[in-house]
This record gives sequence, structure tokens and C-alpha cells, in this order.
Amino acid sequence: MQVEIVSDPMQLLDVLPEFNPDLILMDIYMPGCTGVEASQIIRQHIAYCNLPIVYLSTESALERQLEALRVGGDDFLHKTISDEHLVEAIRIRAKRFRALAMLMNRDGLTGLFNHINLKLLLEREISQTLRRDSPLSFVMLDIDHFKLVNDQYGHPVGDQVIKSLARLLSQRLRSGDIAARYGGEEFAVILPDTPAEAAKTLIDGLRQEFAKVSYVHEDGEFTSTFSAGISTSPPHQEMESLIAAADGALYQAKHNGRNRVDLETNTD
Ligand code: GH3
Ligand code: MG
Ligand code: MG
Repeated sequence: MQVEIVSDPMQLLDVLPEFNPDLILMDIYMPGCTGVEASQIIRQHIAYCNLPIVYLSTESALERQLEALRVGGDDFLHKTISDEHLVEAIRIRAKRFRALAMLMNRDGLTGLFNHINLKLLLEREISQTLRRDSPLSFVMLDIDHFKLVNDQYGHPVGDQVIKSLARLLSQRLRSGDIAARYGGEEFAVILPDTPAEAAKTLIDGLRQEFAKVSYVHEDGEFTSTFSAGISTSPPHQEMESLIAAADGALYQAKHNGRNRVDLETNTD
């Protein structure tokens, strides 16, 4: 287990995006603000509405414990617990919450983040980007003429193409990058600390690689391509405008002949 200790609850919101914990273990009585107040603040942020919060406290009054759970805590451990018991109790809970999160957050066909989670993660990454003052690029990818793939080779073969693009994204992206299935044959990629031109080079490399993959069907083989549009923050500060700009660039890439990567035009 990797552990980050925060002794000042006022610093919680600074530590959370960087450390990205599976679980928070928190006292109820702390200097500056109570655990109940801290939980309320954490829960106001949509990105952390599912983050498990477990209280470790001497509080034994049932009514107080219930109040703490009511405002967003998930569980309650009493402070007289032994070290061994505490570690085991946290390990079990973190494991269960992680398994649940996997089911809730991932797309069934590809194992990538789903649409809802992509938006939560993008929100979080944008706020970090603005704070760190380093650019973030956002990519929308869409498989070209995918309806034809389904029509000619059948839906299960189409699914193979979707999975193959998902695999390429998972394998080739860096560890801080985030790939998601945006829906159908559309994908989204978040590239932190990446200016527009570098994002274009990266995604264009993936585009060339993807175009070389061949798929086998009853009567032979075929290849597939994708188009992509990229937007960058700054200048965008709002998630919706970042997404809309990437979507616009994707539309341009389709319009310009497909199998290509375009940057949003207003940043050039
Ligand atoms: P364009 O190059 O303009 O993107 O054309 P397109 O044919 O890819 O776009 P269109 O939006 O017309 O068609 C997308 C198709 O993707 C239609 C839909 O049936 C198919 N599709 C969506 N989700 C899945 C899926 O999970 N599996 C398979 N096999 N097909 C899917
Ligand atoms: Mg589409
Ligand atoms: Mg398409």
C-alpha cells in the first residue's frame, strides 16, 4: 500500500488530484475542521463523489457515527483496533471498492474508461493543468466508415476492430495519459503536459500504426483507419469547450478526407 499522510485537512483538495487514492482513512476530530466537514467538501467535487471515505475514530456514540456516514462517509472503524486488524480492514475495503469502481467506470467491450468517467477525469485533469500552468491536449478519435465494416464483415468483426484500437491505445500511451471509449466507434484521449503539436505527432503515429493492422474474415483480410481531432488547454478552460473544439477538429479531419489528424483551427 502506498500511503500519503495529510495532517492538515485544509490541504486535502491539493493532495487528492496528485495522489489519487483508492481510499481515504480519516479521523472525525481534527484541528481546523471535522472529518464530517472534510467529507462534505470532498463530496462536493464530482470527481470524488465515489471515493471511499472510512473514518477511524474514538467516537463510540452511534448517533455521531451515523451522522458521519450520512454526509458521505462509507464506513466506520473504531480507534482501539490493532495495527494488524486495521491494515486488513483497509486492504479488504480498498480491494472491494476498486473492483466495484472497475465495473462502474470501465467499458465492457474494451476495458477502457467509459464516457461518464472520461468526463470526471477530464474535469480533474483540466483543473490540474490550469494550476500547474502546463498544456493539456484532448483528442477525439472516430473509426472511418465503420458502418461499412459492420455491413461487409458483420458486427462481431466490427467489435474486433474496436477492441484492436482500444488495445493499441492502452499499449502505446504513456502512463499519465487517459484513453476512454466515448461511445460506439468513438474514442477520447487525454494527454496531460502535452502541447498541440506534440499531441498531433503522437496521435498521427498511432494512426499510421492502426492503419497497418489487418483483420481476417471469411473471404480474406481488410484494414481500417481512424480520423482524429485535437484541442488544447490553454486556451480552453472549460471542459465543454475543449470537447467541442476537438469534436470540430474531428469533423474537419473527416471533411478533409479521413485517415488524418487535425488540430483545432483557432489555435494555429
Ligand atoms: P465516418 O467515417 O463518418 O465516421 O462513418 P462511420 O460509418 O464510421 O460513421 P457512422 O456514425 O455512420 O456509423 C458508425 C457505426 O458504428 C454505426 C454503428 O452501428 C456502429 N457501431 C457503434 N457501436 C458499435 C459496436 O459496439 N460494435 C460494432 N460492431 N459496431 C458499432
Ligand atoms: Mg462516429
Ligand atoms: Mg466513424
